[in-house]
Amino acid sequence: LVHLARVNKHFGSLHVLRDIDLDVAKGEVVVVIGPSGSGKSTLCRAINRLETIDDGVIELDGKPLPAEGKELARLRSDVGMVFQSFNLFAHRSILENVTLGPIKVRKVKPKEAKEQAMALLERVGVASQADKMPAQLSGGQQQRVAIARALAMRPKVILFDEPTSALDPEMVNEVLDVMVALAKEGMTMIVVTHEMGFARKAADRVVFMSDGQIVEQADPESFFTNPQSGRARDFLGKIL
Ligand code: ATP
Ligand code: MG
Repeated sequence: LVHLARVNKHFGSLHVLRDIDLDVAKGEVVVVIGPSGSGKSTLCRAINRLETIDDGVIELDGKPLPAEGKELARLRSDVGMVFQSFNLFAHRSILENVTLGPIKVRKVKPKEAKEQAMALLERVGVASQADKMPAQLSGGQQQRVAIARALAMRPKVILFDEPTSALDPEMVNEVLDVMVALAKEGMTMIVVTHEMGFARKAADRVVFMSDGQIVEQADPESFFTNPQSGRARDFLGKIL
């Protein structure tokens, strides 16, 4: 479903993605971990074309990512994104946050968009907050709204970039539970997170990045119990 081959990206003299090869199959859940600055966010942003790449190939469903225009809007709805900082529209209600994309980009009728949005808000456990504004919700609730908003576009894959790292500890699990449920339902997910519990419960594969490279990848159990590279062992030693 998602295919990256020999992807390279520089920021000036900094080589942030080095020959990245990565394939993510439909229904697969891939957790990306690695030290700060290793290129995890840049990788996500490249897949969503929030960032251009210098060379290599990124394909979704066998087609290269579009550069601009209508096609790009379409891509953004096929590739959902959930950020660390929620990024809800601050001046729109919770319900509008979830209905706007489908109405504008997917051309769904407002009534239908509202019904779908309420069902999604129900699913992530915040339906009772539908008429409030984002600032009135807790961080955990806002992040669950962000997930509902991504789902409303019926994406083929959702990218999560450290979705729980800005949350107070007591709210982390309410968000992870929603993500685990999504994973179990077969959503294709690429998740940058250091939440080992999530990786163990939901990931099919862990990808370890360091210095812009994919250093190793394995199923979560083997990766956590028996990392192959020195860099992965060092990293795990610091976070576990
Ligand atoms: P973290 O765990 O801290 O989120 P990360 O693995 O997500 O780190 P990236 O955000 O992808 O890392 O950044 C990779 C490198 O690229 C870092 O050295 C960062 O400083 C640099 N970088 C990221 N965005 C830009 C930018 N727009 N311009 C210049 N350098 C950038
Ligand atoms: Mg990052």
